[in-house]
Amino acid sequence: MLSGRVAVVTGAASGIGRASAEALARAGASVVVADIDEVGSRSVVDSIEADGGSAIAFRTDVTEHEECAALMKRAVDAFGALHILHANAGIALPFRGDGFAPDIDPEAWDRVIKVNLSGVFYCAHYAIPAMIASGGGSIINTASSMATLPLGGLDGYAASKGGVAMLTKSMAAGCGPLGIRVNAIGPGYVDTPMNEMIFGNADLAAAFASGHADGNLQTSEEIGDLVVFLASDASRSLNGALITCDRGWTSFKRPV
Ligand code: NAD
Repeated sequence: MLSGRVAVVTGAASGIGRASAEALARAGASVVVADIDEVGSRSVVDSIEADGGSAIAFRTDVTEHEECAALMKRAVDAFGALHILHANAGIALPFRGDGFAPDIDPEAWDRVIKVNLSGVFYCAHYAIPAMIASGGGSIINTASSMATLPLGGLDGYAASKGGVAMLTKSMAAGCGPLGIRVNAIGPGYVDTPMNEMIFGNADLAAAFASGHADGNLQTSEEIGDLVVFLASDASRSLNGALITCDRGWTSFKRPV
């Protein structure tokens, strides 16, 4: 489905990014695994190669725009083109500075915005020219269910993800004529290291599971499958969309 395509995935050493990198590689893309976690990235490359796929790791901190520039250049140098960007690196800082606005540590606010929103912009800024030179492409930005339905009490994170959704829509207008599509995904609650605090507690995990329409928590793998669809021509009619891939989390009000 994606053979001959070249993909960059940020935050690819863990969770959703890892599943996305592995799914894109299974679909035939050559993948650049980008993360600040070099050990984790290496293990993703090993797993892709063991599965017969093609991948390289490239250490990238998405808060440093020069590193994002170097990342896109590395993809083109290694594989000859750039067609797919999954801008996915993100952080959440519950009880570590983020929270209700008056309680937020301004440094935590800056950090969350810098990783979750500026990082997405920096990657797009440098990926788009490389995609134009490659004949077009697809950008998938990881937003969140919180882009439309905040949990409350994590104001910085919700603002950053709302920003990702709107940046996606705004960029789609400019990208369309260039043969590039830009979409965002809004997962609900996925069992990844980011959510250790929720999923490490059986009562909390059950409460969060019941908020999904089918009563199930989400897996990174199901999000990876969606990324493959958005990267492929099968999703050619989608541009500027926020796909709420949240098993119904944002579709109904849970009983109180
Ligand atoms: P995770 O913690 O498992 O993975 C995040 C990855 O991003 C890690 O490998 C980490 O090293 C990397 N990273 C952090 N800061 C970085 C930086 N400055 N530069 C490069 N890489 C960096 O978390 P996850 O749950 O897989 O989250 C992935 C994305 O999905 C995030 O944007 C997150 O906000 C979003 N998301 C997660 C959920 C969920 O329920 N887990 C729901 C909605 C959206």
